[in-house]
Amino acid sequence: MALKGLDIFKLTPKTNCKECGNPTCMAFSMKVAQGAIPIEKCPYLTEDVLAQVSDATAPPMKTIKVGTGENEHNLGGETVLQRHEKTFVNKNIYAVTVSNAEGAKNEEVFASVEAIDYSRISERMYIEAVFAKYDEKGSKELYLELVKKAADTKRLVIIDCKDTGVAKAALELIKDTKPVLNGANAENYAEMSALAKEYDVVLGVAGNGIEELHDTIEKIEADGNKNLLIDLGTKSIKDAFANAVLIRRGAILGQDRSFGYPSIADVGGLAKGNRVLETALASLFTMKYGSIVVMENMSYSQALPLYGLRQNIFTDPQKPMKVEPGIYRLNGADENSVCMTTVDFALTYFIVSGEIERSGVPCNLLISDAGGYSVLTAWAAGKLSASSLAKFFEENDIEGQIKNRTLVIPGKVAVLKGEIQEKLPGWDIVVGSNEAVQIVKFLQDYK
Ligand code: SF4
Repeated sequence: MALKGLDIFKLTPKTNCKECGNPTCMAFSMKVAQGAIPIEKCPYLTEDVLAQVSDATAPPMKTIKVGTGENEHNLGGETVLQRHEKTFVNKNIYAVTVSNAEGAKNEEVFASVEAIDYSRISERMYIEAVFAKYDEKGSKELYLELVKKAADTKRLVIIDCKDTGVAKAALELIKDTKPVLNGANAENYAEMSALAKEYDVVLGVAGNGIEELHDTIEKIEADGNKNLLIDLGTKSIKDAFANAVLIRRGAILGQDRSFGYPSIADVGGLAKGNRVLETALASLFTMKYGSIVVMENMSYSQALPLYGLRQNIFTDPQKPMKVEPGIYRLNGADENSVCMTTVDFALTYFIVSGEIERSGVPCNLLISDAGGYSVLTAWAAGKLSASSLAKFFEENDIEGQIKNRTLVIPGKVAVLKGEIQEKLPGWDIVVGSNEAVQIVKFLQDYK
């Protein structure tokens, strides 16, 4: 069927179309408008129409892929300004800075990249990127060495360099890792964009003021490059934050596609050596609206609150945070240690495990899949029951892994004791404390 432009909307198939599954073109169009079905499902659209309609129905902010393999990250793609409106889609990543400038503490930075790497609620918390800052007064050879070393850390590398010659040499060195080239501005955008296209990497664009930034992005887009990041700049904290908010509002509320790109916030550059200010700014730009938050360096005391904040902001408020079901051996517990159980709701897990650790009593904490609810809610919803526990014991071969046969259940579900006893013959079911705060005393008395 050769159809052109909006002629397709005149079609009214008697039965559902075998191509898109809809009864009419209008029904199909409604679903396209809601984002429920991609426009490409209709094979009768001409390429021109497809291009026009795709642009009009594209999300307000692009999702930009950076890095490669294990080290690939999606940035942007957000559809709302506030997390409580719906959800944020792609969490920001953190970078630390190495530089060929005099006095740069590069070894300390590389040591942090190695050291900060831990897991919380099934999420890996680590420094995802290295920001390689080029100082024109510094040595070019040293810069290239740093870029190579940054790539060897197996993190995303951001080549922050406005000199096209040096940028090309750096790209040539680590092109396979798909680094970000952060270097375009009003003067050099044509060469930088050509370079980014040649190496197929994302280009960071900066501007002296928001109008110049917008103009430069439009020019790069007109040249066919829409694989961009927006550098919020380091002129002043006020300017960088105003840029972040205006750009995101322009994209989401104003549907300004030239601002519909993720951003880079160099908070290390803004804080100028003040580590406390740097931490405060990193949390500010985690909330609004840095996609890559660049720090000078990162210590554990900075990482713990920042990653916790990020985890809070970038998880779906509709979905509870859960820990993985399994056996958590606390205080050096082994197969002969007593067992306790509670639900998989992350907050409950951390409170209960913290109290068990405080007691110093070796204990196998058994976490079953309780839907991510708290104890009483899980019980009321049928997610924590004698059957669910028996199923968990069977599926995880608890009896094969643990010789001890005492299981302490939360005091709030004492009512389940009899049923659990029936389902787990051979086990001594003990009713534990009502509140987590009583666990230390309970375990010490029990011992
Ligand atoms: Fe109409 Fe195209 Fe869907 Fe067929 S595939 S019903 S022509 S929109």
